[in-house]
Amino acid sequence: MLICTGYGAASPTEALAPLTFNRRDVGQNDIEIEIEYCGVCHSDIHFARDEWHFTQYPAVPGHEIVGRVKSVGPGVTKYKVGERVGVGCMVNSCRTCPSCQEGLEQYCAEGLTGQTYGGTDKVINEPSKGGYSDKIVVDENFVLRIPENLDPAAAAPLLCAGITLYSPLRHWGAGPGKKVGIIGLGGLGHMGVKLAHAMGAETALFTTSASKVADAKRLGASLVILSKDEAQMAEHAESFDLIIDTVSASHDLSPFFGLLKRDATMVQVGAPEHPLPISVFPLLMRRRSFAGSMIGGIKETQEMLDFCGKHNITADVEMINIQQINEAYERMLKSDVKYRFCIDMKSLKAA
Ligand code: NAP
Ligand code: ZN
Ligand code: ZN
Repeated sequence: MLICTGYGAASPTEALAPLTFNRRDVGQNDIEIEIEYCGVCHSDIHFARDEWHFTQYPAVPGHEIVGRVKSVGPGVTKYKVGERVGVGCMVNSCRTCPSCQEGLEQYCAEGLTGQTYGGTDKVINEPSKGGYSDKIVVDENFVLRIPENLDPAAAAPLLCAGITLYSPLRHWGAGPGKKVGIIGLGGLGHMGVKLAHAMGAETALFTTSASKVADAKRLGASLVILSKDEAQMAEHAESFDLIIDTVSASHDLSPFFGLLKRDATMVQVGAPEHPLPISVFPLLMRRRSFAGSMIGGIKETQEMLDFCGKHNITADVEMINIQQINEAYERMLKSDVKYRFCIDMKSLKAA
């Protein structure tokens, strides 16, 4: 076993604190990664606090991981010691079901067993543990290459926030001639604005925060709509080809359905703790769709990273030390982050 150090929660109500835990030894096809940076996703909060009701404790969050290859198993062919690599939300899947065979491992028939945290390491039969940690062991087939021109700390959030927006933008055809709306300017939302703009779509941001209007324009939105302002919303009735909702808390979706064209789609990626009430009539009236989407497969994640390398896209990050993680969670809950916290893992050694 590899003894690791990290930060984790001992129960839903306790703050994250230092801990040590085991990972499996480096196997035939495994890569041991020394973690340099880890982004802080809102899912980390949902998970640490058991808001999705499957957390096993101690819970070590973190699935926006960037680091360097420290050692490799004898069967590894894709990566060498010293290379800069990334790990996102998945470290395994069944590899044989129809979704895995299509490169859509995020929809594996076995469910979420291969998640970076919240799954199970089948070798040691223990709950998997995430990237708020000094090192991680991952099968090379679930390791990503980080383009060299990207700042590694600012690239870390691409591994979850980036792919979670890239995948539905591609699937639902965002591009020139399409009007795309992103709801919420947080970690996911700000990546959505950057990516939709880079794909050539007319990009709008819906926000509840008047203070974010100027930033949204800087990030690539040509339109910023205050979603609580009914008059502003009404100006855009029946005009959108695609809207992606990244909001982490319960809120009313119905006002957004009316902004879609006939046959257009609203995609939910935000995963609030409680079910959302939906008024179905705006869907019926224009044959509109309401869909969901979860991260992206490994192949598409690499495609997204390469797209970001080509277009020089990274997250806007606020760097923190691991000791500030609990304060960072409180600030995220107040939508007070521009626009992703990223942990500098050197701080773990200092502790
Ligand atoms: P975040 O950084 O906290 O951003 C959420 C944004 O939602 C906020 O910045 C805010 O934007 C808006 N918001 C928050 N509370 C709101 C409320 N009560 N009403 C309306 N708007 C509100 O979170 P994140 O890391 O981007 O994650 C967002 C959600 O996506 C989380 O639920 C997370 O678990 C989920 N997620 C899903 C996937 C997937 O695969 N589907 C992947 C990663 C994360 P404004 O200030 O602009 O209004
Ligand atoms: Zn995430
Ligand atoms: Zn599968």
